[in-house]
Amino acid sequence: MDIYLDANATTPVLPVAAQAALAAMAEDFGNPSSVHSTGLKARALIDGVRERARRIVGAGAGRLLFTSGATEGIQTAVLSALSAVRSRADLAGARWLLYGATEHKAVPEALRHWNALLGLGLEVRAIPVDTQGRHDLAFLREHAPGAGLVCTMAANNETGVVSDLAGIAAALENVAAFWMVDCVQALGKLPLALAATRIDYAPFSGHKLYAPKGIGLLYVRADAPFTPLMAGGGQEDSLRSGTENMAGIAGLGAVLAALEDGGTFRNHAELSAFRLQLLDALREALPGLVLNAPLETTLPTTLNFAVPGLPSRLLQDLFDAGGVRVSGGSACSAAKAAPSFVLQAMQLPDWQAAGAVRLSIGPAADAVMVREACARIRACGEALRRHGPQHGALCEDPGALDATLSGDCRSVLGEQLADFLAHQPGLVVVDVREPYEHALPLPDQFSGLEVHAVPMNCLASAAPAWVASGRPLLFFCRSGGRSRQAAQALAAMGHEQSWTLAGGLALLPQPASAVDPALYV
Ligand code: PLP
Repeated sequence: MDIYLDANATTPVLPVAAQAALAAMAEDFGNPSSVHSTGLKARALIDGVRERARRIVGAGAGRLLFTSGATEGIQTAVLSALSAVRSRADLAGARWLLYGATEHKAVPEALRHWNALLGLGLEVRAIPVDTQGRHDLAFLREHAPGAGLVCTMAANNETGVVSDLAGIAAALENVAAFWMVDCVQALGKLPLALAATRIDYAPFSGHKLYAPKGIGLLYVRADAPFTPLMAGGGQEDSLRSGTENMAGIAGLGAVLAALEDGGTFRNHAELSAFRLQLLDALREALPGLVLNAPLETTLPTTLNFAVPGLPSRLLQDLFDAGGVRVSGGSACSAAKAAPSFVLQAMQLPDWQAAGAVRLSIGPAADAVMVREACARIRACGEALRRHGPQHGALCEDPGALDATLSGDCRSVLGEQLADFLAHQPGLVVVDVREPYEHALPLPDQFSGLEVHAVPMNCLASAAPAWVASGRPLLFFCRSGGRSRQAAQALAAMGHEQSWTLAGGLALLPQPASAVDPALYV
């Protein structure tokens, strides 16, 4: 059973939102542009969700349009602002486009893209942040008068650092530049009253708050310029053409209703208490843990930390083995091993930027989930203490298997595992993950089997005996990469009964009884 602590990357869809989305696909499936009753029903749904969203973000007289997500909202805002910069006399002297150094990549990339496409030739410059991730307001005050657009975020997705929007607004006083605030991580976590601010554009994303992926919102201040990203049938008052994503809008509407009605989401104090519980468990499990951003100025749902001597990837794999899903930073850059640019911008030491782990809960988190998460975090700490890298390899004769050995191995899919196991008498199952991962409980599917824990760098010593015994072997690891290598090497050594679990433990189906939706939020 998963404990999902990566809510800043995405969240599960709230059951009421899934039901609403399903109803919008199967029953109330009308096109809101149709004038018959089926269409009118769809129109009423859209109007209702928009009204609710307007209240929640405090849109006042501003416009609020549905988008496919924040990346589209950001493009639309940047295109709108830059088109105006090109034509407006009061912005003729603009020299640069400013963005916070810790912005989501969608922001600087959109600035560069539209700046080039519109032929503006402005300099795209990062506003530095201090060691706490807050914008350098002196830099902003100095450079804002020469800016065409200033982009900042309400809260950072990696660190949870909450921006000083009042300070930024003060620095932008009497400045002609437009101001976009990425509000993705703020929805449901911070109070919003957009029309009461000087903010011109504010993108939101549904999947960061329990709505489906592919639906978002863009707030546009009443007198801010607007250029549609998509022209066509004139939907969304011609602000965004294309038939509306009714399932997404219905799902988002259900989430927003839950937000307004209360009961589903925790308040700031409750979330802060959950975060402290998690931090206590982490500090116990990982002595020496250092926070990468202070609690006082971060969202109560986010913890970003590093542990001296323990690489980020090791910690992520350890937590994964312990049934706790965390990330090393933003999900978009998780596949790249590079240190976090956000933490580098905060001038944190290299080991902290390279060793960062992010743990984030959503506002629907509950006490049962947090308690279970803490228990698992402590179990991870115990596994690390007893079997961590400081203990070295467990084999007497460490030596990697010859990497050039790559015979054809056979693979078993997770969903075929039960059937496979039933037909392999004498099977030896080999867990090729690291010793600290072995030390954590295995999924139920492996109970009663002969499981050998043999990390990759110990396989060379164990392999000859396996070849001699001729017993069938099933290798597994976390994602299927290492186990395939191991099974291929054994096959190349002449072992004919060598299998890999394709996709590793990650793709192993969970028994239905183990799925408790409460633990996912
Ligand atoms: N801005 C921030 C702060 C984010 O966290 C994300 C999502 O990772 C985005 C923008 C992009 O959002 P979307 O996935 O809706 O395009």
